[in-house]
Amino acid sequence: MKAIQLVAHGAPGTFELRDVPDPQPDAGEVVVQVQSCGLNHLDLWLEEAGLPIPVKLPRIPGGEIAGKIVQVGESGSAGVPPASSEPGQRDAGAPKWKPGDAVAVQSNIFCGECEFCRRGEESMCLRGEILGVQRDGGFAEKVVVPTRALVRLPAGVDFDTSAALTLAGSTAMHMLTNRAQVKPGDWVLAIGGASGVGSAAIQIAKQLGARVISTGSTEAKRALAQHLGAEFVVDSNKPNWPADIRKYTNKHGVDLVVEHVGGDVLGKCFDCLARGGTIVTCGATAGRDVPFNLWPFFVKQHRFIGSYGRDRVDLEKTLAWTAEGKLKPVIDSVFPLDQTAAAFAKLRSRHCLGKILIEPFEPESESD
Ligand SMILES: [Zn+2]
Repeated sequence: MKAIQLVAHGAPGTFELRDVPDPQPDAGEVVVQVQSCGLNHLDLWLEEAGLPIPVKLPRIPGGEIAGKIVQVGESGSAGVPPASSEPGQRDAGAPKWKPGDAVAVQSNIFCGECEFCRRGEESMCLRGEILGVQRDGGFAEKVVVPTRALVRLPAGVDFDTSAALTLAGSTAMHMLTNRAQVKPGDWVLAIGGASGVGSAAIQIAKQLGARVISTGSTEAKRALAQHLGAEFVVDSNKPNWPADIRKYTNKHGVDLVVEHVGGDVLGKCFDCLARGGTIVTCGATAGRDVPFNLWPFFVKQHRFIGSYGRDRVDLEKTLAWTAEGKLKPVIDSVFPLDQTAAAFAKLRSRHCLGKILIEPFEPESESD
């Protein structure tokens, strides 16, 4: 099969389009023909060797996979996911997968057996692996994944839509409905409304009855955030944009910030926060070490919550909401597999409105 391999780290790194052996599934695994795979900031970190995780090269990147099952591993007794009697119907009777099934793949591959996985908190798996980082991902015609990472695509959700929403969208879903809570009427600030997480966060917060404010560095990005449902959008180039947020909320501040940038932006988020407000964060693209003033933090009884990846339930909810039309993808552009390096360059340039996708296979009729 054809695959893009990262062969040397850098900014840009070195990618090669190579013919590699088709992946073979073990028991409890399937081979998915990748129809569409989203590009994420995580991929840039992989490219630049910016992850605090050892990575072996060559590596096929790509964690936001939607495709069709083409091969199911022989179901011997070994390797079959453990029957789970935990809440929900996870693995109940081990879903039967067959060639032709349309699926999304959960990118944080979890073990299914540790104390966290057993209670449905796969985002905290003790033996988790990131698809496309610690194992080969979806910038290839095919990928092998464990069946426990599969979620069936609901009717009406096509491959590009899934690949534009399942990683960043389920990250936002985890932040807004799992790690933090939103009450109707709350003010929610979604940082970076044109980004993958930000564009989903605006829509999810809106659905939950919040009044949403977002940020954007260009006119086009701000217009997109507004189109997605933000009531106000502030220009993040303005040094004192938190003052605008105070003004829009009548000095109240926002009750929740959905943050994924870090660096200087995080400090500004605290300046926007109402008393008793919460910041939930899932990323640090602008910097991981940040100054932190404890005084206003405890005096205003703020909460600061970390969020990582998603649980299975978050991914299922993301796809269900998408099928119901409550969540829509924002797709910037679609690249063929041999243009993957150009796709990385575009994401790095930050001139994107929504998601960049790679289609390793020529799009067939995606409506089925
Ligand atoms: Zn686990």
